[in-house]
Amino acid sequence: MFEKTTVKLTAVYLSIMMAISIFFSLNLYRVSVHEFNRTLQLETVAIQRLPNWRLDVEARNQLLQERQASFAGAKTHLLGQLLLVNIVIFAGGGLVCYYLARRTLEPIEESHQALERFTGDASHELRTPVAAMRTEIEVSLMNPKLTLKQAKQQLQSNLEELGRLTSLVEGLLRLASLDNKALPKESVLLGSVIKEAIAHNKPLAKDKKISLEYKSTTKAKVHGNKESLVEVLNILLDNAIKYSSKNSAVVIGLKTANKQAKLTISDEGIGMNPSEAEHIFERFYRADEARSKHQAEGYGLGLAIAQDIIVLHGGQISVSTKPQKGSTFSVTLPL
Ligand code: ADP
Repeated sequence: MFEKTTVKLTAVYLSIMMAISIFFSLNLYRVSVHEFNRTLQLETVAIQRLPNWRLDVEARNQLLQERQASFAGAKTHLLGQLLLVNIVIFAGGGLVCYYLARRTLEPIEESHQALERFTGDASHELRTPVAAMRTEIEVSLMNPKLTLKQAKQQLQSNLEELGRLTSLVEGLLRLASLDNKALPKESVLLGSVIKEAIAHNKPLAKDKKISLEYKSTTKAKVHGNKESLVEVLNILLDNAIKYSSKNSAVVIGLKTANKQAKLTISDEGIGMNPSEAEHIFERFYRADEARSKHQAEGYGLGLAIAQDIIVLHGGQISVSTKPQKGSTFSVTLPL
């Protein structure tokens, strides 16, 4: 589809280029021919005015014919040159136009591919648990000796699966709601955002005996959406706890410099290698360690949501991490 569109766009660019080139060539030819004719007329008059003793009739006619032939030759030569120039413009311009058309369509093609990948991943993530639940229910229904205990276990497992599906659908809806949308903003004290997120994640941290440490007294304020900023902190703290082992620490820092607030969340968890860290802000990406060995729950949407929110605030989010040593996520926001 994009190859066809590139060719069409090339044709449009080339038509515009050729229309301009032909327009200038025709005008140049018209003006030149006009000048040739005027010069020929003047020369003809000058030759005819020459006295008979200087030029007899026969020589005069011959000179006139020679001048006319030379002007006709000049016109043909000019026409040939203009034609050649237009052929060169057509060939060279075609290549340039194709290159420009490709460059124009490249970002559209990339976002189209990303959308296709996203739709594919989303439908896969939605279809798999639904199909598994369906099979489980069918097997249970076909079992004539199904006991109440087994039925309850079945329902419990379905409920857990439905809980995960609900969080996936909520994540997808949240991403859709953040697309091209400005968030309502107010003056927000970052310290209160951090405290709210710490309170929210405390029970989870307590379960794993992880300490959440925050000492900064900075009164940094940003122009932002408090609810969404708490959501970002919740995502980062939830990950820090989820991907850390028991009895470790998660440290939250807040500093201001160069009219920017810098928020850091450091853990002593499983970390990632650089090739994985490159992709973690992509939708549905989960590093191998998290997916297989660590078996932490998630769909790989949290950091994509966090990044969308931070970008909508004119900020940046990044990570520095080492496998088995821990990760530090940094968020910068304009003050
Ligand atoms: P989820 O945690 O639901 O899988 P996220 O988008 O929040 O999705 O994170 C994407 C991936 O980034 C995770 O699957 C994990 O591999 C990696 N990751 C995120 N935070 C951390 C962290 N603090 N330590 C190690 N890996 C992390």
